[in-house]
Amino acid sequence: MILASNRACQPPTRSGWQQEMAEAIRTPRELVAALGLDPRLADGAERASELFRIRVPWSYLRRMRRGDPLDPLLRQVLPLDAERDEHPGFTADPLGERAATAAPSLLKKYRGRALLIATPACAVHCRYCFRREFPYAEQAEAPRWQEALEQIERDTDIEEVILSGGDPLSLSDARLAALTSALEGIAHVRRLRVHTRLPIVLPSRVDSGLTAWLASLKWPAVVVLHANHANEIDGEVREACTALRGAGATVLNQTVLLRGVNDDAGTLAELSVRLFEAGVLPYYLHLLDRVRGAAHFEVAEERAQRIAGELAASLPGYLVPRLVRECAGAPAKTPLPPRFGA
Ligand SMILES: *Cc1c(COP(=O)(O)O)cnc(C)c1O
Ligand code: SF4
Repeated sequence: MILASNRACQPPTRSGWQQEMAEAIRTPRELVAALGLDPRLADGAERASELFRIRVPWSYLRRMRRGDPLDPLLRQVLPLDAERDEHPGFTADPLGERAATAAPSLLKKYRGRALLIATPACAVHCRYCFRREFPYAEQAEAPRWQEALEQIERDTDIEEVILSGGDPLSLSDARLAALTSALEGIAHVRRLRVHTRLPIVLPSRVDSGLTAWLASLKWPAVVVLHANHANEIDGEVREACTALRGAGATVLNQTVLLRGVNDDAGTLAELSVRLFEAGVLPYYLHLLDRVRGAAHFEVAEERAQRIAGELAASLPGYLVPRLVRECAGAPAKTPLPPRFGA
């Protein structure tokens, strides 16, 4: 018999989360069927996913409501025909990142901090991802770290290195350790930050190997999560957040304000409260970056400021994320003041 299952051929060292990542949903039909949705939804999704492929871990899918095409988690990952519409101002590189590239896979826009695209891979494909058209393939991972590391070493202004992506936690523990031990050799680097959505979409990623890596770092680490809706935070995610904190990390969250997902103050307030219950403080509330294919998620600036005003009026200050927009060429994220009243 040669009908051994594929799984038997996989290396035995693969961790549970890596298996889960490999098994993620990769076709609209699978997604639509798994949620008991109208199969016709899959047609538009097929067309739109030609531009940016669908990817949804099962653990994330289990937090969606069955049969509800408007579920706020589903909306973040389901490709829609609307993605194919052209809108003025929505471009492939809305943040001018290609211009801010200090070395392959290293972006330096702000004083003191540099962002390393540690890997192009991600466990989920959010439809509004501002790097959905970033030429990751040209910036392939492993061989290019070297140049980024050399640039960090040369630029003594870089005190903080931000591991980003894709999702840096889609790298194995061994690869992460290789990267951080190289960074630990650079004396002017004083902080490490990790921008990741994996503890939200694939909480099994926060396993003992990952927490051992975090705890072994020579600097205090900051982990900035990316959660957009309270329904994303279930018991498993809370445990993952607790484990990150147990490993000594400061854990913050950034949210993208998305039409049809979280564009009202009540939804955002519930998210802040749930984050707090998981030991996580809100950091930024981002206006959508104007990447091509994401126009249907946009919330107008003034409306965003009113939502932020209502949010501020309903929560203690430490649970209110700062509303910001990223402007190409600006020296920091640009804050937008909340608007109060009618
Ligand atoms: C957002 C971003 C940062 C981090 O900015 P903070 O305000 O420190 O969170 C750093 N570098 C780049 C390129 C960024 O886009
Ligand atoms: S998790 Fe982040 S990098 Fe990955 S697809 Fe979503 S927005 Fe993009």
